Amino acid sequence: MTAVFVWAADCILLSVLLLPLWLRNKDRSFILLWSVSLLLMGLGLAGLIAIGVYGVRFFTLPIAALVAAETLSTAGLLSLYGAKCPLRFMLCSLGVWLAALLLFHLSGFGSVACIASYYLADIGIAVYAVHFLLRHADFEEVGYHRATPLILSVEAVVGLVIAILFLIDSPALPDEGVMISVALISGFLLFSVKIFHAVWLSIEKFEFHLRKLAFHDPLTGILNRRGFFHGIEERITYALPDELFAYLMIDVDHFKRINDRFGHDVGDQALVAFAHNVLAEIGKEALFGRTGGEEFAVFIKVGDVQEAISIAERIRARQAATLYTGTIRPTAMTVSIGIAFQKGRFTGFETLLWQSDRALYEAKNQGRNCVVSYSAVPSPVTPEGALAALGNAS
Ligand code: GH3
Ligand code: MG
Ligand code: MG
Repeated sequence: MTAVFVWAADCILLSVLLLPLWLRNKDRSFILLWSVSLLLMGLGLAGLIAIGVYGVRFFTLPIAALVAAETLSTAGLLSLYGAKCPLRFMLCSLGVWLAALLLFHLSGFGSVACIASYYLADIGIAVYAVHFLLRHADFEEVGYHRATPLILSVEAVVGLVIAILFLIDSPALPDEGVMISVALISGFLLFSVKIFHAVWLSIEKFEFHLRKLAFHDPLTGILNRRGFFHGIEERITYALPDELFAYLMIDVDHFKRINDRFGHDVGDQALVAFAHNVLAEIGKEALFGRTGGEEFAVFIKVGDVQEAISIAERIRARQAATLYTGTIRPTAMTVSIGIAFQKGRFTGFETLLWQSDRALYEAKNQGRNCVVSYSAVPSPVTPEGALAALGNAS
């Protein structure tokens, strides 16, 4: 009894403490749902205590509060996956509970009908939630999401076992008081796991969102410079010694003219369309980022040098063939590409950038709208040579 009292008080206190968190940002509706859920859980448990103290065997109201609490806590969890309709969900679960309650009463189950029907509603909530997650959730987003259907399935199985134990009236089973204690303890554990998981999930989602903002370019949606370089670092860390990587440095030709002629907005749209063109030519494994205003880069594992050159050539050709019809007259926008290579877990990332930059410079020199590999740059200057030249000039 004391434990249930502490649990009830805890729920009500937590419910109140969550409110300011929700008031800080009302978009986080899951916090409000959990706050109301905890309040109902606390009131439902308080109702059960009153039944224990005063001996009134009227379970209906407290159990209704507990069903609503379960529904709202699960609705809060689902809202993290984009579910929007807790009210409909609530009405459905209360409907299932009432129907089960009526059925068990009519079948002569007496007071256990109330408890068994609660667990049936609980199973309904969990099954609906798993169904929703499997249909709508994007499990790619955060790896931790995968635990959610598992937790809900455990909840459904535990609920089923307890409901059956209450319904079979066998002398082999412990008396009703012990059974109620077992049900309460398992309910407490499952509810705590669910809320803890939901809090963890909301933190992970928030971090995922922040990481997305920090690593992506808002205009094109592809990686920004930071995200792109971070991705390369990761690839290099896990690279095998023989793997060959190509760095394609891509720069839009005479982009300033496009801006000057048609305006910044058209220029922006042209960059977005270009990003789509590149994505259509590279596989999912390749990294593609916007490294500067009209400068992009692809980092890709290739079988040999020729494969990288043909990917770059395909990007160049697709882009040259794209006509922008939003302009006064259909206009093409071409790109120049410089390529450099490194193998395995290389350390010379600066060298890779330098070499692809030299190759790009050569492509611009050759008249733009072309692809140049660093190995084809005539008498290439090394970074050391360039520094020495600067030293001599000064
Ligand atoms: P080159 O062929 O030598 O590369 O010539 P360019 O005109 O492309 O190169 P330049 O570096 O002279 O000009 C780049 C232009 O890109 C200047 C800048 O206004 C424009 N730019 C940079 N970022 C953005 C952007 O986000 N949107 C738009 N519309 N323009 C941008
Ligand atoms: Mg340019
Ligand atoms: Mg440029």
